[in-house]
Amino acid sequence: MSSVTLDHVHKRFGNAKGVEDVHIHIESGEFFTFLGPSGCGKTTTLRMIAGFYYPTEGQIRFGSQEVTSVPPHKRNTGMVFQNYALFPHMTVFENIAFGLQVRSVSKTETKERVERIMKLVRLEGYGERRIDQLSGGQQQRVALARALVIEPQILLLDEPLSNLDAKLREETRFEIKRLQLELGITTIYVTHDQAEAMSMSDRIMVMQGGEVQQVGTPHEIYHRPVNRFVASFIGETNLWEGTVVGLDQEEVHVRISSGQVLSGLVKNASPRAKLAVGEQVTLSIRPESVQESSEREGTNIVAGTVVLSEFTGACVNYVTAVGQEQLRSMSINLGRPIKQRGDTIGLHIPKESIYFAG
Ligand code: ATP
Repeated sequence: MSSVTLDHVHKRFGNAKGVEDVHIHIESGEFFTFLGPSGCGKTTTLRMIAGFYYPTEGQIRFGSQEVTSVPPHKRNTGMVFQNYALFPHMTVFENIAFGLQVRSVSKTETKERVERIMKLVRLEGYGERRIDQLSGGQQQRVALARALVIEPQILLLDEPLSNLDAKLREETRFEIKRLQLELGITTIYVTHDQAEAMSMSDRIMVMQGGEVQQVGTPHEIYHRPVNRFVASFIGETNLWEGTVVGLDQEEVHVRISSGQVLSGLVKNASPRAKLAVGEQVTLSIRPESVQESSEREGTNIVAGTVVLSEFTGACVNYVTAVGQEQLRSMSINLGRPIKQRGDTIGLHIPKESIYFAG
């Protein structure tokens, strides 16, 4: 297993920007995800690690070995592509064995290794099947087996679940995570699906427009988004603008558009937030942290009119008009009467659940 370092890596395509100044260190054995919307530069970054593209500037290292311009077949990475890129006319066994034959591994060893890996991805007994006789989920596992059989130092996965239906996607997500934990292999995963990224990764790199926005654990990215983009891309959140009107060592007080002052904790500010009296800040409030209250006023209690109420069984979701803003909230259904559109409601926003993005 190997760590991966991208040292101020840039990639331009002629005049077009691909990615700009990616500077990260991925630990050996880590599950690391590149997350962002279409065109943000995830695949370009992954392809530079695989060796399919060379950086315009910067260095790539696997452990202490520099690989910036080493061709792909000499890098010892295993890659799974979005469309799997399997050979349709070959059997499952032949597809998985391909990388070993290219590396001149003996027939006996090939058989042993392919069978071992087929067991690992739960494809035992499928060796003689042709690829076009397999379901999408089984093809996905063949692609994974083909990448793993060469015993790569680094596993690269480019949107490997996007061709599967929702249920299978969730099952396969656990399967990939299980394999990664079992093998302890450094894994780099590309996706635009935040739930996938959150549930599988040790750390996530959020990208937009070819630039890195934030690198952190799922917890850090969710709770301490550095800017509006990250806060809204990762899960649902309420983003409110406000002006700092008071500050001490522990607490910050912010006037929101309704004129009300909300109190938050200084420790919940991202490094990019400007916490000084008179400065504008963006508050990020997750719907699940807003709780219905029997009070209509008090510290961090806002009152408003219900615009939408939604009963989902386990939860009650409200959208409430508070001054010029709307506040989305999600409460566990405790059997209380459900408020309807037009009703007034009191909502408590706990201090510790307000985060300040830059
Ligand atoms: P998607 O999720 O749609 O695959 P992505 O985040 O992986 O998107 P990239 O494919 O890495 O994004 O593309 C990043 C930027 O680089 C885009 O603006 C894209 O148009 C550009 N780009 C990528 N490959 C090339 C290429 N071969 N030639 C020119 N521009 C390219």
